[in-house]
Amino acid sequence: MLTVSAALTTVLVHAQPLASEIVPLTPALLGAVLAEDVPSDLDMPPYDKAMMDGYAVRMADLSEGCGELAVIEEVNAGQTPRVALSEKQATRIMTGAPIPTGADTVVMVERTRLADNDRVHIDDPSLQIGRNILTRGREMRRGDTVLRAGAVLRPQEFGLLATVGRTAAKVVPSPRVAVLSTGDEVVEAADTPGPNQIRNSNGPMLLAQIARAGGLPHYLGVARDRLDSLRPLVAEGLNSDILLLSGGVSAGKLDLTPGVLEEAGVVAHFHKVEMKPGKPVLFGTRERPDGRSPTLVFGLPGNPVGAFVSFELLVRPAIRRLRGLAVNDGALVSAVLTEDFAYRTDRPTYHPARLEVGDGGWRVRAVPWFGSADLRGLLEMDALVVLPPGDHRHMAGTRLPVLRLDFC
Ligand code: AMP
Ligand code: MG
Repeated sequence: MLTVSAALTTVLVHAQPLASEIVPLTPALLGAVLAEDVPSDLDMPPYDKAMMDGYAVRMADLSEGCGELAVIEEVNAGQTPRVALSEKQATRIMTGAPIPTGADTVVMVERTRLADNDRVHIDDPSLQIGRNILTRGREMRRGDTVLRAGAVLRPQEFGLLATVGRTAAKVVPSPRVAVLSTGDEVVEAADTPGPNQIRNSNGPMLLAQIARAGGLPHYLGVARDRLDSLRPLVAEGLNSDILLLSGGVSAGKLDLTPGVLEEAGVVAHFHKVEMKPGKPVLFGTRERPDGRSPTLVFGLPGNPVGAFVSFELLVRPAIRRLRGLAVNDGALVSAVLTEDFAYRTDRPTYHPARLEVGDGGWRVRAVPWFGSADLRGLLEMDALVVLPPGDHRHMAGTRLPVLRLDFC
């Protein structure tokens, strides 16, 4: 059976960044990857600018930063100085205002005292020429490349794009990810389940996981375990960049998903991965008629924790890759067990765990969990500790690999 790492490699071979598009810059693009170099359309600051409230002065009029000057004008941010400074003159100036001609230094207001209405006493022995002035173009010059293709849009990038007058930019779009739940026994959350029915937890959970990974979730509903129910919904899902199915991928008689996918032109690259939970997972691709990169198809296990874990291990990296982001190795850390933990397993197990930072680095504790159907066992966790196969008593102090899930 394929290892998780071999399965991930296979997924990533088929996951290519989506073609970039020019889109309006909205907060929804947080985390998107820029696909163009962005030049500045102006000098920043556009004029020599005061960085403090105080007085614009000529250094030559002071002796070691001290002296008394005549106040000739007051300039606020947004105003233009009308008078140039001459000998022994000062202009009262506010943060952000343009420096008057002739001035070469700004004394902060805390180092001054008004002698009478139009005279100011200055006492700042450490004063130097240019102090508290940001000269024109210091931050950027018109034509400078201020952002490069590949930059991830964080709040500061939005601010900078606005500074250079951009309201739209070329970015890699977020992948559209469709979710199809399957199962004759599955009803929606709003319904009261009959005697042999369960509510669809995977649908809402996967939609939220998609959103957390930066994809655009799209819900297709629940398909019954019948070909005529599955076929049209699978066909619809194949219009998305990624199609996730939950359930129906094991070896049961009504596990119809693999056959329906094959019939729809999906080429399976693997079915089953050496992991617990999540073993039945299937991955395939389907070419798209319009030449766009193929739709990635994941058949995730029906058991909620199997679906959750296989999403985090295989689907989240694929979404990142489609978004043009690096697949983040930083999500895997080495942590020290804080409590003894005995566990028997026949394949590498991703056990729900709680991670914290201690004096010596990461520390981890496995949380109580009853297996792949126990979604409630995930409430306490924020990470998955990776346990090797075998019958082990992992002692406190042992180091184990841990996958962080709060890491986007
Ligand atoms: P399957 O992979 O279809 O055999 O499903 C395995 C187990 O997961 C069964 O106990 C299903 O009832 C359960 N299951 C399947 N789909 C869902 C779902 N959408 N939400 C919650 N549990 C599910
Ligand atoms: Mg089923």
